[in-house]
Amino acid sequence: MSSLLQLTPIGPLADALLAEMGAVRLWQEDAGWLARHGADVELLATSVRRGCDAAMLSALPMLRAISSWGAGYDTLDVAGARARGIAVANTPDVLDDCVADLAWGLLIAASRRIPAANRYVQAGEWRQLGQFPITTKVSGRRLGILGLGRIGSAVARRGEGFSMDIRYTGRSPRDVGYVFEPSLLALAEWADFLVVACGGDAETFHLVDAAVLCALGKSGILINVGRGSVVDQSALVEALEAGELGGAGLDVLEGEPGAPEALARRDNVVITPHVGSATVQTRQAMEQLTVDNLKAFLQDGRLLTPVKS
Ligand code: NAP
Repeated sequence: MSSLLQLTPIGPLADALLAEMGAVRLWQEDAGWLARHGADVELLATSVRRGCDAAMLSALPMLRAISSWGAGYDTLDVAGARARGIAVANTPDVLDDCVADLAWGLLIAASRRIPAANRYVQAGEWRQLGQFPITTKVSGRRLGILGLGRIGSAVARRGEGFSMDIRYTGRSPRDVGYVFEPSLLALAEWADFLVVACGGDAETFHLVDAAVLCALGKSGILINVGRGSVVDQSALVEALEAGELGGAGLDVLEGEPGAPEALARRDNVVITPHVGSATVQTRQAMEQLTVDNLKAFLQDGRLLTPVKS
């Protein structure tokens, strides 16, 4: 059996299965373990939260494959691994439904102000003040998607059920029935709701800037289930405070964990703590896939879900 190193706890299922495969748990070893044994490690299990940077790669000169829990790979040195011929896997596909469900939950919650309405009832204001202010319609309106990948496509499919007019942007058009809009600015101008469903890297950094938010407009709503870094968060706060943007639903933030007061306290902003994939069923599937990728690699040298970037 190749020597397997696990960098971080992943979850009860994966941790147990990796232990059966003989994984060494780095967090339970002493500080000198890597220096003494790094050259023996051929397989690595990690997560998008823990990642695997260039320093870790150079501590593992015989590494052949990395299996990472999570769909994002912004914390993995994928280019460095590729340059050394190291195979890298993540756990996409199995989480698409849950992340898309949450995107829609945020979209409806932000536009219909469900959390604020709930607080209104809890505070006894329904009885004291009467009717809650009217809100914004969802069904039948314009849905723009930044990144029509696996998650973006699942968001779009749900949009069809809400009779939405759907357009998207990305680096290139896809063979789908929705209109491709090459310009994010033009997409934001057109859309009532803009859903960010792309990952975070140098290319997507602050793609959603002040101009895009202004184009989305006073009644527009921004949803982000991709990465916090895709949205210029200072510009988002400014647009909300100036009344230039209608609202936002955010599962991912810049500088997470935590949200700035200027976002957290607003009635037209709904924030969840990066829980897109956080259901029992999906988390189990992600853990299983993290292990299955390693088993497939051991069996025939091929990962089930290699990172595609
Ligand atoms: P995917 O299938 O690879 O889709 C990514 C999409 O982003 C593609 O449509 C791609 O379109 C687009 N994209 C990439 N670079 C771009 C750029 N520079 N400009 C515009 N569009 C760009 O990935 P996925 O599985 O759907 O996951 C997407 C991201 O969701 C992950 O990377 C992760 O950050 C995030 N995520 C969040 C949660 C959560 O809990 N909230 C959970 C899982 C994943 P083109 O190639 O055509 O440009």
